[in-house]
Amino acid sequence: MNKPVGVLALQGAFQKHIDMLSASGVPAHIVRQPDELYDCSALIIPGGESTTISLLIQKNGLYEPIKAFAQDHPVMGVCAGMIMMATEVDDDRVKPLGLIPFKALRNHYGRQVHSFTADIKLNFDSNGDEFQAHFIRAPGMENLHSDIEVLAKYDDEIVMIRYGRHLALSFHPELTSDNRIHQYWLGMHDASMQDDEEHTVHAIAR
Ligand code: GLN
Repeated sequence: MNKPVGVLALQGAFQKHIDMLSASGVPAHIVRQPDELYDCSALIIPGGESTTISLLIQKNGLYEPIKAFAQDHPVMGVCAGMIMMATEVDDDRVKPLGLIPFKALRNHYGRQVHSFTADIKLNFDSNGDEFQAHFIRAPGMENLHSDIEVLAKYDDEIVMIRYGRHLALSFHPELTSDNRIHQYWLGMHDASMQDDEEHTVHAIAR
């Protein structure tokens, strides 16, 4: 993999993603402006405050560039980042990017339980250990499109989904030393790079 993975660093919990990528030997690139996106092979939208991230995405002229980038590059959205990936949000202050067809529900787990940790099963690694998931004022999801694959649930609530090359999670996978989710996403990313290369080879062969 030549190009680095971008981490949107407008606000919130981006540093731990950079650390986790670096620990896996993957170069990470901070993204705050559109031109920084063009050097990347994939993008992580981290957790934070979705109202603020949404405003900053627009202020920095990143709204259309991220949407265009996501057409042919993998994006992983975590917590507030997951909210940004939806087509609909239960809060008008957030203008979602519409990368995955579902509705995001902010602070879905109530005021009292702002944060909690739960061991969840990862469907893509069902024989492996459970994953220690940190939920921090976590969002929920509803009205999922039928093409969305559910990758994890907590207490009957869907907490991790895949849609094509994109991944969205309501918990923070970067807050443990368990890098299975980043690895899984990076695996999807390698597969999609291969697809691109095959397309290029076919285009050249034609
Ligand atoms: N509650 C935040 C929001 O609605 C998300 C929290 C997080 O990213 N950990 O934007």
